[in-house]
Amino acid sequence: MLLTNATLFASTVYHYIIVGGGTAGLTVAARLSENPDIKVGVIEAGLWQNEDPRVYIPGLIGAAFGSELDWAFQAAPSEILNGRSLSWQRGKMLGGSSGLNFMVWGKAGESEYDNWEKLGNPGWSWSEILYVLFYSAYEQDVGSCSY
Ligand SMILES: Cc1cc2nc3c(=O)[nH]c(=O)nc-3n(C[C@H](O)[C@H](O)[C@H](O)COP(=O)(O)OP(=O)(O)OC[C@H]3O[C@@H](n4cnc5c(N)ncnc54)[C@H](O)[C@@H]3O)c2cc1C
Repeated sequence: MLLTNATLFASTVYHYIIVGGGTAGLTVAARLSENPDIKVGVIEAGLWQNEDPRVYIPGLIGAAFGSELDWAFQAAPSEILNGRSLSWQRGKMLGGSSGLNFMVWGKAGESEYDNWEKLGNPGWSWSEILYVLFYSAYEQDVGSCSY
């Protein structure tokens, strides 16, 4: 349920409060709330803007940069950039940066996933998550896939 009333939100008891309703925060909130006995609250600094064409029309990529939907961080000037300062877009809305992004489905190389596992995350190697990568891209049974 979307609660935009701060008083009502503050008077509700939650098992978990997630700060930041972006890609990761909403994924965690959705997974936790699959259990109907668990109450999850999400606090998001930005607005709920999923009916804004700048958010849902892929061809309008960039239209919300610098707007109220963008934190529009400015990096410090860098010597190796001849003193230039770069702007860093980050979504400020429910959905976070997924509301600003290019909607490109990309994946890293084999060694990068293997490094995840080497950093102490058993089960996150390339060979073990390949199934999930294909599943998330094609939403189909990849049991017969030759990869
Ligand atoms: C311009 C751009 C293009 C991109 N293109 C792609 C792409 O094509 N494909 C792809 O896979 N990825 C892309 N990405 C990357 C992808 O969108 C991000 O990696 C992903 O959304 C990050 O998720 P996150 O949950 O870490 O952060 P975010 O989704 O940014 O979520 C953080 C949330 O926290 C909120 N927040 C911050 N501070 C507070 C606070 N104090 N209180 C309450 N809320 C707060 C923010 O408003 C935001 O909603 C792109 C990113 C950008 C910026």
